[in-house]
Amino acid sequence: MKVLVINCGSSSLKYQIIEMDTREVLCKGLVERIGIEGSLLTHKVPGKDNFVIKEDMKDHQRAVELVMAAITDADHGVIKSVDEIDAIGHRVVHGGQKFAKSVRIDDEVKAALRECVPLAPLHNPANILGIEACEKAMPGKPNFGTFDTAFGMGMEPKAFLYGLPIEYYKDYEVRRYGFHGASHDYVSHRAIEIGGLDPEKAKVIVCHLGNGASISASIGGKCVDTSMGLTPLEGLIMGTRSGSVDPGIMQFICKKENLDIDGILAVLNKKSGVLGMSGGISSDFRDIEKAAAEGNEDAENALKAYRFRVAKYIGAYAAAMNGVDCICFTAGVGENDKNTRQLICDEYLGFLGVKIDPERNDIRGKEALISTDDSKVKVYLLPTDEELKIAMDAVKLLQEG
Ligand code: AMP
Repeated sequence: MKVLVINCGSSSLKYQIIEMDTREVLCKGLVERIGIEGSLLTHKVPGKDNFVIKEDMKDHQRAVELVMAAITDADHGVIKSVDEIDAIGHRVVHGGQKFAKSVRIDDEVKAALRECVPLAPLHNPANILGIEACEKAMPGKPNFGTFDTAFGMGMEPKAFLYGLPIEYYKDYEVRRYGFHGASHDYVSHRAIEIGGLDPEKAKVIVCHLGNGASISASIGGKCVDTSMGLTPLEGLIMGTRSGSVDPGIMQFICKKENLDIDGILAVLNKKSGVLGMSGGISSDFRDIEKAAAEGNEDAENALKAYRFRVAKYIGAYAAAMNGVDCICFTAGVGENDKNTRQLICDEYLGFLGVKIDPERNDIRGKEALISTDDSKVKVYLLPTDEELKIAMDAVKLLQEG
């Protein structure tokens, strides 16, 4: 069974075809600059040279048509015809309170997605464009949606309500939603699977440390709390996002710098995090670590603050669940940066009985237990696979009929 996974941004489209029987990724690709001059499609098949199509694409419809051309290309394709695709799985950023799990997409679902546009004005319209382009280009193929926010629907009101007038929740659905849901869901369940943990009771913390970063607590795979909020701005210090700050700072800086609310939000989203804290060196951890090693104090403090914030959330989530059985590291930094993993655990988590084995931790991008055998909490490196989760959900829904 083959699933085409689509992840649409406003000017980009990422895709993969996964052979579900073997979980093999047959091909993956990226379309960039949709609707902008100089658009291009880069198609990758393992073991082959990249195949690039350069053609101005005025919209997502054209992008999907070229994806179809690439995947069925006589030399670079991986299927003879799109008839071989059994299902299409779409990543959808915001499902509001309507979607607690993945769904088969129909007109009613699309109408609900449109209602969620005010909650994700940049992302949801692009996701809808991608769905409609696939419906048009491959009529009759079943389309399924997996929501970034669905995992957070497991939270109880005590976790998802903000300390705000209740009307904002009741009238406008202002609450904590959380993002990176496919990743938290996939990794927490994988931890239960490979750790042999109790599928109903396992208390798992997942640290998704990528350019965007979030952390979740779950019991038996059901979300108890997660660090991103109404938007992805809340929580951890990230590549360019500030994470949680005192909201009073916004008015203070707006007055000092003559900014309006959109201006300060642009700063918090794009110019903050380790990029801003390091004085503009980079949003990439490798650059920050290099600068810190060369003696840059701001870079060093950015890294320390980053680890401190992750550790504070782990401590808070251990309290929120009244215990923790397993901590997982995933995404770009979590999967590749052994120092960050080691330091978070060594500097702060000894009180939980966490012990990292430096030899086991000397690994990148592979599933591995990195704690010692006598560690009270199991610590894993578990590479995330959001596309596989989207494809797995599509197959499940297809089989349910
Ligand atoms: P993601 O958003 O999950 O793709 O993560 C991207 C981020 O992972 C990059 O911006 C880097 O900060 C980080 N990253 C990737 N490789 C490494 C590495 N070897 N060491 C430290 N950080 C890394």
